[in-house]
Amino acid sequence: MAGIALKEIQKSYGNLKVIHDIDIDIQSGEFLVLIGPSGCGKSTLLRMIAGLEEITGGELNIEGRVVNLLPPAERNIAMVFQDYALYPHMSVRENMSFGLKMRGNKDEDINGRVQHAAEILKITDYLERRPAQLSGGQRQRVAMGRAIVREPAAFLFDEPLSNLDAALRVEMRLEIAKLHNRMKATTIYVTHDQVEAMTLADRIVVMNSGVVEQIGKPLELYHNPASLFVARFIGSPT
Ligand code: ADP
Ligand code: MG
Repeated sequence: MAGIALKEIQKSYGNLKVIHDIDIDIQSGEFLVLIGPSGCGKSTLLRMIAGLEEITGGELNIEGRVVNLLPPAERNIAMVFQDYALYPHMSVRENMSFGLKMRGNKDEDINGRVQHAAEILKITDYLERRPAQLSGGQRQRVAMGRAIVREPAAFLFDEPLSNLDAALRVEMRLEIAKLHNRMKATTIYVTHDQVEAMTLADRIVVMNSGVVEQIGKPLELYHNPASLFVARFIGSPT
């Protein structure tokens, strides 16, 4: 099965080029982590893949289809944001159901999917609450639940844990690892946390100013960083 292929992907805002010719082949079922300094283009790249940002050069292929011009809803991809982006006036159940309702799924199917995702994420007790009545960790679970119910071909995470305290971050990281082992969905995960990158990734992409500095398995990058820049992010401390 095909995954996601980025071919010479570029992004310019007016005259400002922020992504330069990025080529990455993401295998189906792979967990790919993007890491790099603030402003290097990680979110921009994710948003282009999700269809939230226009691609100004190159070709984006998802499951064998060129999707450059497809709207987000037709890309079969779900994105989870750092700030959760939940609807404050809706209950957890409504937040998780909304996308499926828009898509025209039947109520029975929606309820089944929400129940199943809620069980996996251990939020069945909170389904009738509003986001404001939940902790940060619970909100992030709801955001993940909203993505899971759509059964997308791929998940995109943009620093999903960076608003959580250290202990909760560890707990949620382990949950995300478990979830991936269970679902084996193609995942692109942006973080600036080295431990998250090393423990979650099948492969890590180190980005720098809109280009890929190095791509490889965590231990390859750790032991053989291609540059000082990569070493600073994930290399061994020697
Ligand atoms: P990261 O997520 O790695 O911190 P971003 O993808 O958010 O980086 O930003 C990459 C670059 O693109 C930055 O220089 C940022 O200022 C610029 N940028 C992002 N969004 C816009 C926008 N809407 N208009 C102009 N420049 C932008
Ligand atoms: Mg960002």
